[in-house]
Amino acid sequence: MGLRFEIVAEDKATGARAGLLHTPHGIVETPVFMPVGTAGSIKGITQAQLEELGVQILLANTYHLYLRPGREIIRQMGGLHRFMAWPHPILTDSGGFQVMSLKGLVRVTEDGFWFKSHLDGSSHFLSPERAVEIQVALGADIIMTLDECVEYPASREALQRAVKLTGRWAGRSKEKLSALSSQPSAPSPQPLVPSPSLFGIVQGGVDKDLRRESVESLLELDFEGYAVGGLSVGEPKAEMYDMAEYTAQLLPRNRPRYLMGVGTPEDLVECVARGIDMFDCVMPTRNARNGGVFTSQGKVVIKNAKYAQDESPLDPACSCPACRRYSRSYIRHLFLAGEMLGAILTSQHNLHFYIDRMRKIRQSVLSGAFAEFLSGARAEC
Ligand SMILES: [Zn+2]
Repeated sequence: MGLRFEIVAEDKATGARAGLLHTPHGIVETPVFMPVGTAGSIKGITQAQLEELGVQILLANTYHLYLRPGREIIRQMGGLHRFMAWPHPILTDSGGFQVMSLKGLVRVTEDGFWFKSHLDGSSHFLSPERAVEIQVALGADIIMTLDECVEYPASREALQRAVKLTGRWAGRSKEKLSALSSQPSAPSPQPLVPSPSLFGIVQGGVDKDLRRESVESLLELDFEGYAVGGLSVGEPKAEMYDMAEYTAQLLPRNRPRYLMGVGTPEDLVECVARGIDMFDCVMPTRNARNGGVFTSQGKVVIKNAKYAQDESPLDPACSCPACRRYSRSYIRHLFLAGEMLGAILTSQHNLHFYIDRMRKIRQSVLSGAFAEFLSGARAEC
């Protein structure tokens, strides 16, 4: 087992916990927010800056890296860590979600997904086995099983079919990984991760019975961690929270729980309270590129005219490099002039905001003050 999860504190009143996730590339403090490095890069932020911001683990998208530059180039370059000069933990997704969200899906069969590349329209096939193979070639510390994520709203039949298929694919993924682990690996400039940890993904939409069924089928396979998938796809917020909580309490206490694709700064606190340990979301960086800034006083749309002569930083309460040096007026100007530095600075700030928020959440769990933090965060909304 390449992964060890250690719980160091649990909140008495909620499901919140603080832990340490020991991976082949270092220790990750949980709860953790993982920025999304779609094509092996967090847009606009260098790896050195990520380290300064306190990023401990990042997510890379298998779909994008598989299409470009291709797994063989990355494997030949010594794996994704070395290729992208990031010697810290990496989690890769299976590629299935991108196939669907980029509308490239042609057909779902028992065997896998047939899809068309968003780059050139070429046809590709992704099976559970191939998804594992590609992620192993990339050399990620944590890899995900291929799953079928259904859009919201969906019929019970569609959800049930996805739960069953996801369960069968989880079994096939696990078998593939054991087969690969027992084979001697091909030569490469540097040994890749010897045994990546595979997480199973719970589906079932907003149907509790199906969520339970999905959890049960995964528990039989005994994964090193579990992800809650199929949420934040359009369902009302209250249902998302409810499902995250319901699913988390069905999962084993001693394994990390990862809520995929969530969410807003409020979601992080609310879902930590419901027993979630890991999060990823494009929101801080994507919003930043559009001039959307998260601050301690709520959202700021930096392009607005009211900031034209505003000398204050993006967030007066923030200590990030962008806030220490630049005014809202200047950053607004950069956006209006189409200068790339604008998006770079808002991305730095937003990522700092997320990482810092998670650090405070973790600290409050450790010091026994999480309930207080939670009510404070709710009062701000
Ligand atoms: Zn800042």
